[in-house]
Amino acid sequence: MKFLNVVTVAEAIRAAVRIAPSVVTECVRVEQSAGRVLAAAITADSDIPGFDRSIVDGYAVRSSDTTGASDAIPSQLFTAGRVIMGTGGLNVVIREGQCAYIPTGGILPEGADAVVMVEYTEEAGDIVLVKKPVSHGENVLLRDEDFKQGELIFSPGRRITPQEAGVLAACGNNRVQVAKKPVVGIISTGNELVPVSEKPGPGQVRDANASMLAAWLNEYGCIPELFGIVPDERCAFEEGIEKALSTCDLILLSGGSSKDDRDMTAGVIAAKGEVIVHGIAIAPGKPTIIGRIAGKPVIGLPGHPASAFVVLIAIVRPLIDTMLGLERPQLRTRKATLTENVPSQRGREEYVRVRVEGEMATPLFGKSGLLNTLVRSDGLVRIPAGYEGLEKGSSVEVILW
Ligand code: AMP
Ligand code: MG
Repeated sequence: MKFLNVVTVAEAIRAAVRIAPSVVTECVRVEQSAGRVLAAAITADSDIPGFDRSIVDGYAVRSSDTTGASDAIPSQLFTAGRVIMGTGGLNVVIREGQCAYIPTGGILPEGADAVVMVEYTEEAGDIVLVKKPVSHGENVLLRDEDFKQGELIFSPGRRITPQEAGVLAACGNNRVQVAKKPVVGIISTGNELVPVSEKPGPGQVRDANASMLAAWLNEYGCIPELFGIVPDERCAFEEGIEKALSTCDLILLSGGSSKDDRDMTAGVIAAKGEVIVHGIAIAPGKPTIIGRIAGKPVIGLPGHPASAFVVLIAIVRPLIDTMLGLERPQLRTRKATLTENVPSQRGREEYVRVRVEGEMATPLFGKSGLLNTLVRSDGLVRIPAGYEGLEKGSSVEVILW
Protein backbone atom coordinates (compact mmCIF):
# COMPACT_ATOMS: atom_id res chain seq x y z
CA MET A 1 0.00 0.00 0.00
CA LYS A 2 1.47 3.32 -1.06
CA PHE A 3 0.74 6.52 0.85
CA LEU A 4 -1.74 9.11 -0.29
CA ASN A 5 -0.70 12.72 -0.57
CA VAL A 6 -3.60 14.16 1.41
CA VAL A 7 -4.97 17.69 1.19
CA THR A 8 -7.33 19.40 3.64
CA VAL A 9 -11.09 19.31 3.14
CA ALA A 10 -11.06 23.02 2.29
CA GLU A 11 -8.38 22.47 -0.38
CA ALA A 12 -10.30 19.52 -1.78
CA ILE A 13 -13.51 21.56 -2.02
CA ARG A 14 -11.66 24.41 -3.73
CA ALA A 15 -10.15 21.95 -6.21
CA ALA A 16 -13.56 20.39 -6.91
CA VAL A 17 -15.31 23.73 -7.29
CA ARG A 18 -12.59 25.03 -9.62
CA ILE A 19 -13.26 22.24 -12.16
CA ALA A 20 -17.05 22.54 -12.01
CA PRO A 21 -18.53 23.01 -15.49
CA SER A 22 -20.33 26.33 -15.78
CA VAL A 23 -24.07 26.57 -15.21
CA VAL A 24 -26.22 25.63 -18.20
CA THR A 25 -29.72 27.05 -18.12
CA GLU A 26 -33.10 26.07 -19.49
CA CYS A 27 -36.63 27.40 -19.36
CA VAL A 28 -39.27 25.49 -17.41
CA ARG A 29 -42.91 26.11 -16.66
CA VAL A 30 -43.35 27.82 -13.28
CA GLU A 31 -45.52 25.00 -11.93
CA GLN A 32 -42.58 22.66 -12.62
CA SER A 33 -40.00 24.97 -11.06
CA ALA A 34 -40.09 24.06 -7.34
CA GLY A 35 -36.74 22.63 -6.26
CA ARG A 36 -34.97 23.99 -9.34
CA VAL A 37 -32.27 26.64 -9.01
CA LEU A 38 -33.28 30.03 -10.36
CA ALA A 39 -30.89 31.25 -13.05
CA ALA A 40 -32.23 34.74 -13.71
CA ALA A 41 -33.09 37.83 -11.67
CA ILE A 42 -36.83 38.27 -11.21
CA THR A 43 -38.29 41.76 -10.97
CA ALA A 44 -41.89 42.88 -10.46
CA ASP A 45 -43.42 43.75 -13.85
CA SER A 46 -46.00 45.96 -12.14
CA ASP A 47 -47.09 47.04 -8.68
CA ILE A 48 -48.49 44.12 -6.69
CA PRO A 49 -51.26 44.51 -5.87
CA GLY A 50 -52.04 46.93 -8.64
CA PHE A 51 -54.61 48.87 -6.60
CA ASP A 52 -55.64 49.60 -3.00
CA ARG A 53 -57.91 46.75 -2.02
CA SER A 54 -59.96 45.48 0.85
CA ILE A 55 -58.83 42.40 2.75
CA VAL A 56 -62.25 41.77 4.30
CA ASP A 57 -65.92 41.81 3.35
CA GLY A 58 -67.41 45.02 4.75
CA TYR A 59 -67.95 48.69 4.16
CA ALA A 60 -65.45 51.12 2.74
CA VAL A 61 -65.54 54.23 4.91
CA ARG A 62 -63.72 57.41 5.80
CA SER A 63 -62.15 56.31 9.10
CA SER A 64 -62.86 59.71 10.67
CA ASP A 65 -66.61 58.97 10.27
CA THR A 66 -66.32 56.00 12.63
CA THR A 67 -64.58 57.70 15.56
CA GLY A 68 -66.25 56.67 18.80
CA ALA A 69 -68.66 54.24 17.10
CA SER A 70 -70.00 51.50 19.40
CA ASP A 71 -72.88 49.04 19.77
CA ALA A 72 -74.77 51.58 21.83
CA ILE A 73 -74.01 54.60 19.65
CA PRO A 74 -73.23 53.41 16.11
CA SER A 75 -72.17 55.77 13.33
CA GLN A 76 -74.87 56.17 10.71
CA LEU A 77 -73.58 56.23 7.16
CA PHE A 78 -75.40 56.42 3.83
CA THR A 79 -74.54 53.79 1.20
CA ALA A 80 -73.18 55.29 -1.97
CA GLY A 81 -73.12 51.99 -3.89
CA ARG A 82 -71.52 48.54 -4.02
CA VAL A 83 -68.07 47.64 -5.28
CA ILE A 84 -68.21 44.84 -7.85
CA MET A 85 -65.24 42.42 -8.03
CA GLY A 86 -63.02 42.47 -11.08
CA THR A 87 -64.25 45.85 -12.28
CA GLY A 88 -62.63 49.26 -12.21
CA GLY A 89 -64.42 49.95 -8.93
CA LEU A 90 -67.05 52.44 -7.91
CA ASN A 91 -67.53 55.50 -10.00
CA VAL A 92 -68.45 57.54 -6.96
CA VAL A 93 -66.28 59.23 -4.40
CA ILE A 94 -67.03 58.38 -0.78
CA ARG A 95 -67.77 61.66 0.93
CA GLU A 96 -68.22 62.48 4.59
CA GLY A 97 -71.07 60.43 6.05
CA GLN A 98 -71.01 57.87 3.20
CA CYS A 99 -69.88 54.30 2.77
CA ALA A 100 -69.97 51.53 0.15
CA TYR A 101 -70.25 47.77 0.43
CA ILE A 102 -66.96 46.14 -0.60
CA PRO A 103 -66.10 42.44 -0.88
CA THR A 104 -62.64 41.00 -0.06
CA GLY A 105 -60.25 41.98 -2.84
CA GLY A 106 -62.44 44.80 -4.16
CA ILE A 107 -60.96 48.16 -5.19
CA LEU A 108 -61.12 50.69 -2.38
CA PRO A 109 -63.29 53.56 -3.67
CA GLU A 110 -61.84 57.06 -3.81
CA GLY A 111 -62.43 59.02 -0.61
CA ALA A 112 -62.47 55.89 1.60
CA ASP A 113 -59.37 55.05 3.65
CA ALA A 114 -60.46 51.98 5.64
CA VAL A 115 -62.92 49.09 5.68
CA VAL A 116 -65.21 48.08 8.55
CA MET A 117 -65.80 44.32 8.68
CA VAL A 118 -69.38 43.40 7.86
CA GLU A 119 -69.66 41.71 11.29
CA TYR A 120 -69.56 45.16 12.95
CA THR A 121 -72.25 46.70 10.78
CA GLU A 122 -76.00 46.51 10.27
CA GLU A 123 -77.82 47.50 7.12
CA ALA A 124 -81.10 49.37 7.51
CA GLY A 125 -82.37 50.41 4.10
CA ASP A 126 -79.81 52.73 2.59
CA ILE A 127 -78.34 53.47 5.99
CA VAL A 128 -75.52 51.40 7.49
CA LEU A 129 -74.88 51.32 11.22
CA VAL A 130 -71.19 51.02 12.04
CA LYS A 131 -70.60 49.70 15.54
CA LYS A 132 -66.83 49.77 15.73
CA PRO A 133 -64.31 52.46 14.83
CA VAL A 134 -61.57 51.75 12.27
CA SER A 135 -58.28 53.55 11.93
CA HIS A 136 -56.76 54.95 8.74
CA GLY A 137 -55.67 52.07 6.47
CA GLU A 138 -57.37 49.35 8.54
CA ASN A 139 -58.30 46.22 6.53
CA VAL A 140 -56.77 47.72 3.39
CA LEU A 141 -53.83 46.42 1.37
CA LEU A 142 -52.15 49.32 -0.37
CA ARG A 143 -51.18 49.31 -4.01
CA ASP A 144 -47.52 48.05 -4.25
CA GLU A 145 -47.54 46.99 -0.58
CA ASP A 146 -46.40 43.50 -1.68
CA PHE A 147 -43.94 44.48 -4.44
CA LYS A 148 -43.17 47.69 -6.29
CA GLN A 149 -42.88 47.74 -10.06
CA GLY A 150 -39.25 47.16 -11.08
CA GLU A 151 -38.26 45.88 -7.62
CA LEU A 152 -35.83 42.94 -7.55
CA ILE A 153 -37.81 40.09 -6.04
CA PHE A 154 -35.42 37.13 -6.44
CA SER A 155 -31.74 37.02 -7.33
CA PRO A 156 -30.42 34.04 -9.28
CA GLY A 157 -29.04 31.10 -7.33
CA ARG A 158 -31.90 30.17 -5.01
CA ARG A 159 -33.84 26.96 -4.97
CA ILE A 160 -37.39 27.84 -5.90
CA THR A 161 -40.02 26.96 -3.28
CA PRO A 162 -43.71 26.40 -4.09
CA GLN A 163 -44.53 29.77 -2.46
CA GLU A 164 -41.97 31.43 -4.70
CA ALA A 165 -43.58 29.79 -7.73
CA GLY A 166 -46.74 31.64 -6.65
CA VAL A 167 -44.86 34.96 -6.55
CA LEU A 168 -43.30 34.23 -9.97
CA ALA A 169 -46.79 33.69 -11.34
CA ALA A 170 -48.08 36.89 -9.70
CA CYS A 171 -45.29 38.74 -11.54
CA GLY A 172 -46.49 37.45 -14.88
CA ASN A 173 -44.04 34.56 -15.37
CA ASN A 174 -45.44 31.46 -17.03
CA ARG A 175 -41.93 30.14 -17.51
CA VAL A 176 -38.70 30.73 -15.67
CA GLN A 177 -35.00 30.32 -16.39
CA VAL A 178 -33.37 27.65 -14.18
CA ALA A 179 -30.12 25.69 -14.07
CA LYS A 180 -30.26 22.55 -16.15
CA LYS A 181 -30.09 19.40 -14.04
CA PRO A 182 -26.55 18.05 -14.22
CA VAL A 183 -26.37 14.52 -15.59
CA VAL A 184 -24.21 12.52 -13.21
CA GLY A 185 -22.80 9.16 -14.29
CA ILE A 186 -22.34 6.50 -11.63
CA ILE A 187 -19.95 3.61 -12.13
CA SER A 188 -19.60 0.95 -9.44
CA THR A 189 -16.28 -0.84 -9.42
CA GLY A 190 -15.15 -4.05 -7.79
CA ASN A 191 -14.77 -7.72 -8.71
CA GLU A 192 -16.79 -8.60 -5.63
CA LEU A 193 -19.89 -6.60 -6.62
CA VAL A 194 -23.09 -8.20 -7.86
CA PRO A 195 -26.22 -6.43 -9.11
CA VAL A 196 -28.95 -5.74 -6.57
CA SER A 197 -31.18 -8.44 -8.08
CA GLU A 198 -28.62 -11.18 -7.40
CA LYS A 199 -27.95 -13.05 -4.20
CA PRO A 200 -24.31 -12.50 -3.26
CA GLY A 201 -22.15 -15.62 -3.24
CA PRO A 202 -19.10 -16.12 -1.01
CA GLY A 203 -17.00 -12.98 -0.93
CA GLN A 204 -19.54 -11.02 -2.94
CA VAL A 205 -21.58 -7.94 -1.98
CA ARG A 206 -24.52 -6.24 -3.63
CA ASP A 207 -23.89 -2.90 -5.29
CA ALA A 208 -25.53 -0.64 -2.71
CA ASN A 209 -23.61 2.51 -3.59
CA ALA A 210 -25.06 3.12 -7.04
CA SER A 211 -28.62 3.20 -5.68
CA MET A 212 -27.62 5.33 -2.70
CA LEU A 213 -25.74 7.87 -4.80
CA ALA A 214 -28.48 7.97 -7.44
CA ALA A 215 -31.20 8.46 -4.83
CA TRP A 216 -29.36 11.39 -3.28
CA LEU A 217 -28.56 12.95 -6.66
CA ASN A 218 -32.17 12.67 -7.71
CA GLU A 219 -33.36 14.39 -4.59
CA TYR A 220 -30.70 17.09 -4.95
CA GLY A 221 -31.81 18.06 -8.44
CA CYS A 222 -29.49 16.04 -10.69
CA ILE A 223 -30.16 13.32 -13.23
CA PRO A 224 -28.25 10.21 -12.20
CA GLU A 225 -27.27 7.79 -14.93
CA LEU A 226 -26.22 4.31 -13.85
CA PHE A 227 -23.51 2.54 -15.81
CA GLY A 228 -23.57 -0.67 -13.81
CA ILE A 229 -20.69 -2.59 -12.31
CA VAL A 230 -17.23 -2.77 -13.81
CA PRO A 231 -14.64 -5.30 -12.65
CA ASP A 232 -11.21 -4.18 -11.42
CA GLU A 233 -9.66 -4.30 -14.86
CA ARG A 234 -8.14 -1.37 -16.61
CA CYS A 235 -9.98 -1.94 -19.89
CA ALA A 236 -13.34 -2.22 -18.18
CA PHE A 237 -12.68 1.02 -16.27
CA GLU A 238 -11.66 2.84 -19.43
CA GLU A 239 -14.69 1.59 -21.30
CA GLY A 240 -17.04 2.58 -18.47
CA ILE A 241 -15.56 6.06 -18.21
CA GLU A 242 -15.64 6.58 -21.99
CA LYS A 243 -19.30 5.63 -22.09
CA ALA A 244 -20.17 7.93 -19.20
CA LEU A 245 -18.18 10.83 -20.66
CA SER A 246 -20.32 10.82 -23.78
CA THR A 247 -23.54 11.67 -21.93
CA CYS A 248 -22.63 12.97 -18.44
CA ASP A 249 -21.50 16.30 -16.99
CA LEU A 250 -19.90 14.69 -13.95
CA ILE A 251 -18.79 11.13 -13.25
CA LEU A 252 -18.71 9.37 -9.89
CA LEU A 253 -16.83 6.11 -9.57
CA SER A 254 -17.32 4.20 -6.37
CA GLY A 255 -14.59 1.87 -5.18
CA GLY A 256 -11.02 1.35 -6.30
CA SER A 257 -10.00 4.84 -5.26
CA SER A 258 -7.14 3.90 -2.94
CA LYS A 259 -3.55 3.08 -3.84
CA ASP A 260 -3.63 -0.68 -3.73
CA ASP A 261 -2.42 -2.47 -6.85
CA ARG A 262 -6.01 -3.46 -7.64
CA ASP A 263 -7.21 0.13 -7.36
CA MET A 264 -7.56 1.31 -10.93
CA THR A 265 -9.36 4.61 -10.61
CA ALA A 266 -6.41 6.97 -10.17
CA GLY A 267 -4.32 5.29 -12.88
CA VAL A 268 -7.11 5.39 -15.43
CA ILE A 269 -8.00 9.03 -14.68
CA ALA A 270 -4.32 10.01 -14.89
CA ALA A 271 -3.92 8.24 -18.23
CA LYS A 272 -7.02 9.84 -19.76
CA GLY A 273 -6.84 13.23 -18.05
CA GLU A 274 -5.47 14.50 -14.76
CA VAL A 275 -5.65 13.55 -11.12
CA ILE A 276 -5.88 16.79 -9.14
CA VAL A 277 -6.34 15.40 -5.63
CA HIS A 278 -5.71 11.88 -4.38
CA GLY A 279 -6.32 11.69 -0.66
CA ILE A 280 -8.27 14.05 1.59
CA ALA A 281 -7.77 14.61 5.32
CA ILE A 282 -11.30 13.45 6.03
CA ALA A 283 -12.64 10.53 7.97
CA PRO A 284 -14.31 8.51 6.74
CA GLY A 285 -13.38 9.05 3.10
CA LYS A 286 -9.63 9.56 2.94
CA PRO A 287 -8.99 7.65 -0.32
CA THR A 288 -10.91 10.04 -2.52
CA ILE A 289 -9.86 11.20 -5.98
CA ILE A 290 -10.70 14.47 -7.70
CA GLY A 291 -9.80 14.36 -11.36
CA ARG A 292 -10.80 15.67 -14.72
CA ILE A 293 -11.11 14.08 -18.14
CA ALA A 294 -12.06 16.03 -21.25
CA GLY A 295 -13.09 19.02 -19.15
CA LYS A 296 -15.46 16.97 -17.00
CA PRO A 297 -14.95 16.30 -13.30
CA VAL A 298 -14.40 12.64 -12.45
CA ILE A 299 -14.57 11.80 -8.76
CA GLY A 300 -13.30 8.55 -7.27
CA LEU A 301 -15.27 7.76 -4.12
CA PRO A 302 -14.21 5.17 -1.58
CA GLY A 303 -16.20 1.95 -1.83
CA HIS A 304 -17.36 1.74 1.77
CA PRO A 305 -20.93 3.04 1.62
CA ALA A 306 -20.58 5.29 4.68
CA SER A 307 -17.34 6.77 3.33
CA ALA A 308 -18.85 7.27 -0.10
CA PHE A 309 -21.83 9.04 1.43
CA VAL A 310 -19.77 11.36 3.63
CA VAL A 311 -17.59 12.35 0.67
CA LEU A 312 -20.72 12.88 -1.40
CA ILE A 313 -22.07 15.32 1.19
CA ALA A 314 -18.78 17.03 2.10
CA ILE A 315 -16.96 17.25 -1.24
CA VAL A 316 -19.24 16.39 -4.17
CA ARG A 317 -22.13 18.53 -2.94
CA PRO A 318 -20.18 21.83 -3.19
CA LEU A 319 -19.11 20.81 -6.70
CA ILE A 320 -22.72 20.20 -7.71
CA ASP A 321 -23.80 23.45 -6.00
CA THR A 322 -21.41 25.28 -8.30
CA MET A 323 -22.73 23.42 -11.37
CA LEU A 324 -26.24 24.47 -10.33
CA GLY A 325 -25.23 28.05 -9.53
CA LEU A 326 -26.58 27.71 -5.99
CA GLU A 327 -25.66 30.94 -4.21
CA ARG A 328 -25.10 29.34 -0.79
CA PRO A 329 -25.05 25.83 0.57
CA GLN A 330 -28.47 24.63 1.53
CA LEU A 331 -27.72 22.25 4.33
CA ARG A 332 -30.38 21.57 6.87
CA THR A 333 -28.71 21.84 10.25
CA ARG A 334 -29.71 21.97 13.88
CA LYS A 335 -27.97 22.59 17.15
CA ALA A 336 -27.68 19.77 19.66
CA THR A 337 -25.65 18.70 22.68
CA LEU A 338 -23.35 15.69 22.53
CA THR A 339 -24.25 12.89 24.93
CA GLU A 340 -20.77 11.33 24.80
CA ASN A 341 -17.14 12.20 24.20
CA VAL A 342 -16.16 11.85 20.56
CA PRO A 343 -12.50 11.19 19.88
CA SER A 344 -10.96 12.46 16.67
CA GLN A 345 -7.52 12.73 15.20
CA ARG A 346 -6.02 16.19 14.95
CA GLY A 347 -5.17 17.04 11.36
CA ARG A 348 -8.20 15.50 9.70
CA GLU A 349 -11.79 16.54 9.51
CA GLU A 350 -14.00 13.86 10.97
CA TYR A 351 -17.65 13.29 10.26
CA VAL A 352 -19.42 11.41 13.00
CA ARG A 353 -22.87 9.98 12.44
CA VAL A 354 -25.26 10.95 15.22
CA ARG A 355 -28.78 10.18 16.25
CA VAL A 356 -30.74 13.22 17.36
CA GLU A 357 -33.32 12.95 20.10
CA GLY A 358 -34.77 16.23 21.30
CA GLU A 359 -31.83 18.52 22.02
CA MET A 360 -29.34 15.66 22.32
CA ALA A 361 -27.04 14.12 19.71
CA THR A 362 -25.74 10.61 20.35
CA PRO A 363 -22.71 9.54 18.31
CA LEU A 364 -23.01 6.18 16.56
CA PHE A 365 -19.56 4.74 16.39
CA GLY A 366 -19.54 2.43 13.43
CA LYS A 367 -16.89 1.23 11.07
CA SER A 368 -17.10 2.94 7.70
CA GLY A 369 -17.96 -0.42 6.11
CA LEU A 370 -21.20 -0.64 8.02
CA LEU A 371 -24.45 0.41 6.43
CA ASN A 372 -26.58 0.35 9.55
CA THR A 373 -25.15 3.52 11.14
CA LEU A 374 -26.08 5.42 7.99
CA VAL A 375 -29.72 4.60 8.44
CA ARG A 376 -29.90 4.69 12.23
CA SER A 377 -28.40 8.19 12.25
CA ASP A 378 -30.13 11.50 11.60
CA GLY A 379 -27.06 13.30 10.33
CA LEU A 380 -23.41 14.15 10.75
CA VAL A 381 -21.40 16.19 13.19
CA ARG A 382 -18.30 17.71 11.66
CA ILE A 383 -15.23 17.82 13.85
CA PRO A 384 -12.78 20.33 12.36
CA ALA A 385 -9.23 19.20 11.65
CA GLY A 386 -7.80 21.38 14.45
CA TYR A 387 -9.70 19.51 17.18
CA GLU A 388 -8.73 16.46 19.12
CA GLY A 389 -12.24 15.23 19.69
CA LEU A 390 -15.27 16.85 21.25
CA GLU A 391 -16.35 16.50 24.84
CA LYS A 392 -19.65 15.23 26.14
CA GLY A 393 -21.92 18.26 26.64
CA SER A 394 -20.41 20.21 23.73
CA SER A 395 -22.84 22.14 21.64
CA VAL A 396 -22.62 20.94 18.03
CA GLU A 397 -24.29 21.63 14.74
CA VAL A 398 -25.77 18.51 13.16
CA ILE A 399 -25.89 18.38 9.36
CA LEU A 400 -29.22 16.59 8.95
CA TRP A 401 -29.69 14.02 6.21
P1 AMP B 1 -12.77 -0.26 -2.31
O1 AMP B 1 -12.92 1.21 -2.09
O2 AMP B 1 -12.97 -0.66 -3.73
O3 AMP B 1 -11.49 -0.74 -1.74
O4 AMP B 1 -13.92 -0.94 -1.49
C1 AMP B 1 -14.00 -0.81 -0.08
C2 AMP B 1 -15.13 -1.63 0.46
O5 AMP B 1 -16.37 -1.15 -0.01
C3 AMP B 1 -15.07 -3.09 0.06
O6 AMP B 1 -15.44 -3.88 1.16
C4 AMP B 1 -16.10 -3.18 -1.03
O7 AMP B 1 -16.65 -4.45 -1.15
C5 AMP B 1 -17.12 -2.18 -0.61
N1 AMP B 1 -17.81 -1.66 -1.78
C6 AMP B 1 -17.22 -1.19 -2.89
N2 AMP B 1 -18.13 -0.78 -3.78
C7 AMP B 1 -19.34 -1.01 -3.21
C8 AMP B 1 -20.67 -0.81 -3.65
N3 AMP B 1 -20.94 -0.30 -4.85
N4 AMP B 1 -21.67 -1.16 -2.83
C9 AMP B 1 -21.40 -1.68 -1.61
N5 AMP B 1 -20.16 -1.89 -1.14
C10 AMP B 1 -19.13 -1.57 -1.92
MG1 MG C 1 -12.78 -2.24 -4.92
